Amino acid sequence: MVINMAAGSTEEQIQHVIDRVKECGFTPHVTRGTERAIVAAVGSGGSRAALEALQAAPGVETVVPIAHPFKLVSRQTRGERTRVYVGGVCIGGEEAVVMAGPCSVESREQLFATAHSVKAAGATILRGGAYKPRTSPYDFQGLGLEALKLLRQVREEIGLPVVTEVMSTADIDLISEYADMFQVGARNMQNYDLLRQLGKTTKPVLLKRGPSATIKEWLLAAEYLLAGGNPNVVLCERGIKTFESEMTRNTLDLAAVALARELSHLPVVADPSHGTGRRDLIAPASRAALAIGADGLIIEVHPCPERAMSDGAQSLNLDEFARLMQGLTAPLRPLASYLGAATTERTSKMNGHSVYSV
Ligand code: PEP
Ligand code: MN
Repeated sequence: MVINMAAGSTEEQIQHVIDRVKECGFTPHVTRGTERAIVAAVGSGGSRAALEALQAAPGVETVVPIAHPFKLVSRQTRGERTRVYVGGVCIGGEEAVVMAGPCSVESREQLFATAHSVKAAGATILRGGAYKPRTSPYDFQGLGLEALKLLRQVREEIGLPVVTEVMSTADIDLISEYADMFQVGARNMQNYDLLRQLGKTTKPVLLKRGPSATIKEWLLAAEYLLAGGNPNVVLCERGIKTFESEMTRNTLDLAAVALARELSHLPVVADPSHGTGRRDLIAPASRAALAIGADGLIIEVHPCPERAMSDGAQSLNLDEFARLMQGLTAPLRPLASYLGAATTERTSKMNGHSVYSV
């Protein structure tokens, strides 16, 4: 249940509601907005009827059930959108944030060249995998601690906060020392032990949607983090499995970006690299993601994609990334010029309005 306090309710009235929620057998989670406070009562086993009676408590405006199973993630429990700060960069604010970097950290040269270049192009967070979840055990598994050290160096020398994947609870403390944000990869979205442990930290978490996860399952995975006490969660749509398996690697579910923002107060970013698996689709998919409301993007970039040790086929080179960034801030219409010669421009009409596509 959500207990919406009236505008101007006193601190004493809010505290009374918190105490009563506990007495009723629930856990109170309080959000103090600019105008009013909301007390979410979550848990099972308590008395709902007793909670409903709080309608009569002083300072309470309404007591309403939370419509979804993801309680703390639900927009109902927070009056405003959450902003997540990653080393000083705000995700979920006015500006869309671009995170960019290699799929895997491979060497000092590769990481520094990429970091310099993506920063100059306008990216504000560096991505780079140290521990890689590979489909085959024979593929490159990441440089581990060596990569973490490189990430820390690049962060200090170039001044970009870094996000890197955590695959195991055993690595949380170590990665925490080196990175500004944990990435929970698509394959680990339902690793509840990992989510529970990350919920005990306050370091931001980028929670990727599992390739076969429904939107509800994805938001419930985020609920584990919030319920554990970590409010700094960013959702990431990275493509799902559909019947298409030949032309694209995954199907980027852009409607899920809009819907996750509708259902939750958490920022939502899109990953067009894994979402499409194709370099030629990264720019148009990025623009589409921002157009549908994404709070940011995460994009794989490599100085020489053909030599990348993972995900080369979906990685942009440094120039391509810079061009993509220019295209993101350009007006929507003259889009094709940013996408290179191979792209053709097409304008059609719908209900008398021009429809632009590439
Ligand atoms: C990655 O970001 O390189 C990665 C492995 O992503 P995902 O978990 O979305 O497959
Ligand atoms: Mn990758």
